[in-house]
Amino acid sequence: MSDTEVRDGFKFRGGSLPLDFAATLAARLRPEPRDLLAEPDDLARWFVAAGLVKERLKVTARVLQRARDLREAIYRLAIARARKLPFPEADRALLNRQAAGATPAPHLDRNGSSWTTGSPSELLSLIARAAVELFGSAAGDRIRQCEGEGCALLFVDTSRSGARRWCSMAGCGNKAKVASFRARTAPR
Ligand SMILES: [Zn+2]
Repeated sequence: MSDTEVRDGFKFRGGSLPLDFAATLAARLRPEPRDLLAEPDDLARWFVAAGLVKERLKVTARVLQRARDLREAIYRLAIARARKLPFPEADRALLNRQAAGATPAPHLDRNGSSWTTGSPSELLSLIARAAVELFGSAAGDRIRQCEGEGCALLFVDTSRSGARRWCSMAGCGNKAKVASFRARTAPR
């Protein structure tokens, strides 16, 4: 697993900010999902890990709840987009509402990276806007859900063939390969 895919305990395999944000509810399809945004400071850590800001911001409990609501709306909208189903209306309305908020100013660094300065709620608006852009563009046709067992991670498939199946070749892809090798070589 390359270290660019996991930062500060959060997975960044989606190739898209809103899809990586949705991944902060880990093990979604398992009986006991794990909320990686359990405390306000977890959201502050995620903003840094995602490269949005350089230092941890002060996050309130209210903003954390807004973040979780946005995250779940993004997840359901992404699934609808991937399966070519109608968008859930309440989620679409929530996303548009959050995308309408002020967004932080971006800064280009000398070394070719960028970050922003903004409040936590402005950063949520930034994520919401990125989700609007993704779901409303042709890239939305490339949203996939990892086929790894119990893995619910979403990603944008940028492969030429458009047939990428795993969130990570080194993670879920490798596990599936090992499982199918075992099945083939198992004594009968
Ligand atoms: Zn996976």
